[in-house]
Amino acid sequence: MLGILKLCNSLSILLLPLAVTTTAVTTTGCATVSREVSRSEQMHFRALDVTGCRREMPAITADSLAQMSLEGPAAEEGISVYYNHGNDELARGVAQSLHKAFDAAREATGVELQEALRIYLVRVDEPPQSYDFALRFTNRTYGFPLFARVGTKTPAEVFEQNAACICLLTHEMTEMALVSNPSCSPVLCDTRAGTVTNCNYTRWFREGVASFAGYAAAEELRADLGPEAATLPFQHPYSSLARVRTSLFSWHQFSDGKLNDDNYDASLGLLFLIENRFGKGSVRKIVEGSRSLQYVDGKALTDLINKTFHTDLAKLVEDFRYPRLGLGMDNLTPALALNKGLPVDGALVTRIVPYTPAAVAGFENNDVIVAVNGRPVTNRYDVETALLAAAGAREAVMTVARGNSQQDLTVDVASAGVDWTKPLDSGGPSRSTGAGNARDIGNATYSWNFTFE
Ligand SMILES: [Zn+2]
Repeated sequence: MLGILKLCNSLSILLLPLAVTTTAVTTTGCATVSREVSRSEQMHFRALDVTGCRREMPAITADSLAQMSLEGPAAEEGISVYYNHGNDELARGVAQSLHKAFDAAREATGVELQEALRIYLVRVDEPPQSYDFALRFTNRTYGFPLFARVGTKTPAEVFEQNAACICLLTHEMTEMALVSNPSCSPVLCDTRAGTVTNCNYTRWFREGVASFAGYAAAEELRADLGPEAATLPFQHPYSSLARVRTSLFSWHQFSDGKLNDDNYDASLGLLFLIENRFGKGSVRKIVEGSRSLQYVDGKALTDLINKTFHTDLAKLVEDFRYPRLGLGMDNLTPALALNKGLPVDGALVTRIVPYTPAAVAGFENNDVIVAVNGRPVTNRYDVETALLAAAGAREAVMTVARGNSQQDLTVDVASAGVDWTKPLDSGGPSRSTGAGNARDIGNATYSWNFTFE
């Protein structure tokens, strides 16, 4: 009984048809904008009364909400949770948890989340197998459904049944604040008017800071609610950054959607790297530094980071190395463990590329990685973090559970610079080929694909 997040696609609010007046762009397609999107136009965007969903979610529509006779709200600061009769305590707990999560995100990033969030806590027999993640918003009030199976007693169970939502909700609220809250940071988003697409190349920063906030939120609640409730959606930040490298900086809202998976992770990896290299609080420092700037595009952000930390961000990324072992992994969820008869927590090995360090070390499919250099790991993200810490060493010892026994496999991590021609996590040819062509992705919304087993 758990939800598995499989796909988190793109940001619905930034795909809205903004009424942007362009003055200097003469070509169609994607052009770098210097000053075409003015502050007043950004404010116009804020004032729009729109519905963020492009596709109706199967269970939650304005009509279906009206029929659910929701009571409430149970409120905590700007978060209101509307609930079915009898769920008031549960709703209060959800509001309190999210409030705590948002506080942690604010603290980590310096992004002020001022928006009002409206949660619909809906009691169902079974949460739906899939629905689109989309925030409905009207006059800066954002709405989002959470499902609670009949008999659900605790906020932790609610969040388990709505996988990764702590992270993703925090991500959304943070990103919206970044592009629309003038007292926060004047980060320009990518916009489209007619056939003209204006790219400000801030997406790496918007997504990176937003995911960074999401991780801080999940981290904050993990002790209270348990790891299943605080599921992390982007689990290969470092390997993605090593794969994507500086092409990350040309990612924009209208890039080929195939680039998104890697770039979402890589943008988080970059923010982690910055925090790691320049000290705790560095991400916050950048956000605060950007407040004194006007019209922050990708270049302005890069310049700001270079100046603040006396660094060369592009070089930092180019020089970044992460051990590529030739190992495909999946999270071993409780359901998967049950199905496979594996009584442990860890990262499940699903693929071993021949002639790579993983193959040489003797990995086998269905091995469960339970520790790296003695440090326990419970998911792919833990493995990546542990391997990053091991970068620079010759070898890493990875402990796997195989059948009823455990064994240590010694892996050559010195070949970190090896460039495999294919990404390991996603299969298929390399997708890290730089910015894609502008194309119409008007139908895209978040997709949350939930599987219940
Ligand atoms: Zn986003």
